[in-house]
Amino acid sequence: MRRSCNRAAGKTDCIEVRGARQNNLRGLSVSLPRESLIVFTGVSGSGKSTLAFGTIYAEAKRRYFESVAPYARRLIAQLPTPHVEEIGGLPPAVALEQKRAEPGSRSSVGTLTTLSNILRMLFSRAGSYPDAGSKRLDSDAFSPNTAEGACPDCHGVGVLHDVTEESLVPDPSLSIREKAVAAWPGAWQGKNYRDILATLGYNVDIPFKDLPEKDRHWILFTEEQPVVTVHAEREAHRIQRPYKGTYMSAAVYVKKTFATTLSATLRKRVLQFMNTTDCSSCKGKRLKPESLAVRFGGHDIAELQEMPVSRLLEIIKGAPELATNEAAPVMVEEIIERIELLSQLGLDYLSLDRPAPTLSAGELQRLRLTTLFHSGLFGVVYVLDEPSAGLHPLDAEPLASMLFRLKEEGNTLILVEHELDLVRQADWIVDIGPGGGDRGGRLIYSGPVADLDGSPESVTAGFLNGKRKMRSRPRLEPGEFFTLKGASRHNLRDLEARFPLGLLTTVTGVSGAGKSTLVSRVLAQTVREWLGSPDEDPGQDTEDAEDDDELLDEKPDRGKATISGAERIKRLVCVDQKPIGRTPRSNLATYTGLFDHIRKLFAATDEARKRGYGAGRFSFNVAEGRCPVCEGEGFVSVELLFLPSVYAPCASCKGRRYKESTLEIEYKGVDIASVLDMTVDAACQFFEDSKQVARPLNILRQVGLGYLKLGQPATELSGGEAQRIKLASELKREQKGKTLYLLDEPTTGLHPDDIEKLLILLYGLVEAGNTVIVVEHDMNVVARSDWVIEMGPGAADLGGLIVAEGTPEQVAGSKGKSAPYLKLALEELV
Ligand code: ADP
Ligand code: ADP
Ligand code: ZN
Ligand code: ZN
Repeated sequence: MRRSCNRAAGKTDCIEVRGARQNNLRGLSVSLPRESLIVFTGVSGSGKSTLAFGTIYAEAKRRYFESVAPYARRLIAQLPTPHVEEIGGLPPAVALEQKRAEPGSRSSVGTLTTLSNILRMLFSRAGSYPDAGSKRLDSDAFSPNTAEGACPDCHGVGVLHDVTEESLVPDPSLSIREKAVAAWPGAWQGKNYRDILATLGYNVDIPFKDLPEKDRHWILFTEEQPVVTVHAEREAHRIQRPYKGTYMSAAVYVKKTFATTLSATLRKRVLQFMNTTDCSSCKGKRLKPESLAVRFGGHDIAELQEMPVSRLLEIIKGAPELATNEAAPVMVEEIIERIELLSQLGLDYLSLDRPAPTLSAGELQRLRLTTLFHSGLFGVVYVLDEPSAGLHPLDAEPLASMLFRLKEEGNTLILVEHELDLVRQADWIVDIGPGGGDRGGRLIYSGPVADLDGSPESVTAGFLNGKRKMRSRPRLEPGEFFTLKGASRHNLRDLEARFPLGLLTTVTGVSGAGKSTLVSRVLAQTVREWLGSPDEDPGQDTEDAEDDDELLDEKPDRGKATISGAERIKRLVCVDQKPIGRTPRSNLATYTGLFDHIRKLFAATDEARKRGYGAGRFSFNVAEGRCPVCEGEGFVSVELLFLPSVYAPCASCKGRRYKESTLEIEYKGVDIASVLDMTVDAACQFFEDSKQVARPLNILRQVGLGYLKLGQPATELSGGEAQRIKLASELKREQKGKTLYLLDEPTTGLHPDDIEKLLILLYGLVEAGNTVIVVEHDMNVVARSDWVIEMGPGAADLGGLIVAEGTPEQVAGSKGKSAPYLKLALEELV
């Protein structure tokens, strides 16, 4: 079912893709009309991103490099060439992928939109100065990041960090041996300092508070770094030679680490041992007094950057300077234009000083989208990854009109998108499928949206025409509730919320209302502290903790929240779409624990027993049985001068990861490397008679992951796939009914067919008696939950309240902004 794109779109120009074979694409060919809004649809893993980003955009980027600079040829030779026979008619392309800003990035909403620059210029040229006669300040003087503008007392940081005896030694009744100096590093280094003090003659066994004041002060604050020969005391059985150790006082250690470390975790740790106070000269505003004295519309620049841009807009529109200063109107005009774009994309609750790393991936992508309008580019292909992510249906309407405007300016838009309302409005739809992985990768349909119906294989068609409805189950009645009190963070002010135990609850409301703040921040943190144990994020390793959301949040709580009635909850699990591991060593089989059982099966074969091979022999993480050349990775990294290294299959094991002798062992005629190469579907049959292996495999299959290979490296899984694997491994746990699951927009990146599978998983968790709370904009999911909490009424300062709660019908009948959308979704439910 293919149409010529020329005829249907009335255009002469097409982008022609011939024979794409990247990842799971099977020689896919398609032609796309230029200057149109095109959506790529298909279930998770079908190959949409591969076609959009891995093929079309990758090729555009390669050609761009080729055209700009002949000297870059050698570089291009290294850029991965997409596996495609030919792409014709391809204009230059710009891609916006869903990615969070780098955690260390110093950019903010103001810098990304360049609004901060314009605002500084406005203050410089049109601000009101305290003395009418005073000389105007340069625009740099309004930036805390310049020597000219920074507050001299805090160097533009806004806060002062200081150490005191109390901050370094939280519990002075402990002795040094009992770790009184909590600020010291742990492990060996801490022991080293202790042993040096003992060698120097300090008593490390009496309570710290009983040491003489002079000694306490030297231990904590000395700038000296004496080198001492230490005769360390260690466990009796270990031989320890004397060594030369260098002492460092806790104050020096904390300050030095804080100033120099690149690790967010370490920074956070030492910050605990410092007192942080607002700088008293600038009151945290980071600018020098002369700059803060300048006003526009009655506010200093720091105040304007702190408020939601919607308020900023009102203030500058009504500023008296507009009438008195000639330069003001032009600059104000420019600011208004940019902020209006932000409002259209539902982002005007953000403030200019909001650091980019604290934005969600969807917010960041939409913010970048607004900057495209100022680029003045036309005749360009924009490749966008689910621009509707993170948007309430109410905010999604203006998004569509913005995308159409980009198209009308002569651009081609390719969206990987699932939001059906947006899909319906597109000019052209490319449906890939029918399934995921090996079961996908084919072109199911390419043409105008209205004609998709005639395509029997399309999973998308049924959802679009309404013939297929997402499954649901009879609603559960609420019984007991637990209560969160005193939530005060971001835009929440002493909020109280109650959540039913043992049900599926969705928290909805317009973007910026405070849903994530309530659920993912305050509730998560309060429950975590109340349980007194870290929560388990399935699959989070220590490296991942580096970009822990908590670290991104610089603004502390304005009071502690408390929780009551939650005695039933013994465990907290926050499930996100973060990767389940960052090395190719982690894969589906190892992550789910399946592989342990499989290895035991291999070790139990006659041949393995005869040779004395244990289960460890079949692990690619253990030296015994793995390929010694690639150390079980199957790949070797090839270092290239000046370029990121590339991976190539290991020549010794041909990518099979194991020693020849390990592969000689066969279980039911198949070696261990071939098992890792099986799909979940195939493995289900193969391991049929081994319950411990078959059960988890069956769960993976039920949630639509049958197409994944057991050995598929975690690094190659999509966010949606990772999330489902996490939830599936929760389902097989035996301990029941005691867990609180928190999910923040779990449907991001999911096709309706995948959303249905996710829902079934969530229902499964509730059926086992657990409590599930989901932040969600998809009204189909909200309509299928047991209980709904709507936050609002608006965003930022205009939100932060609970405006409705109850069953989906009750909330649909309320005055909340979700009501009309929820009502529509409920009508479909029957
Ligand atoms: P979609 O965007 O439709 O969800 P993708 O294009 O991300 O799907 O993936 C298509 C298939 O290719 C999936 O089976 C996925 O697991 C696989 N895949 C994705 N990235 C890679 C990669 N870097 N190497 C190998 N396979 C990959
Ligand atoms: P929602 O989840 O409903 O879209 P959020 O909880 O993300 O809303 O945001 C609520 C308010 O808190 C908004 O005004 C937002 O700008 C602000 N906010 C959210 N995260 C942060 C942060 N890390 N730092 C400062 N303000 C934040
Ligand atoms: Zn200051
Ligand atoms: Zn090898």
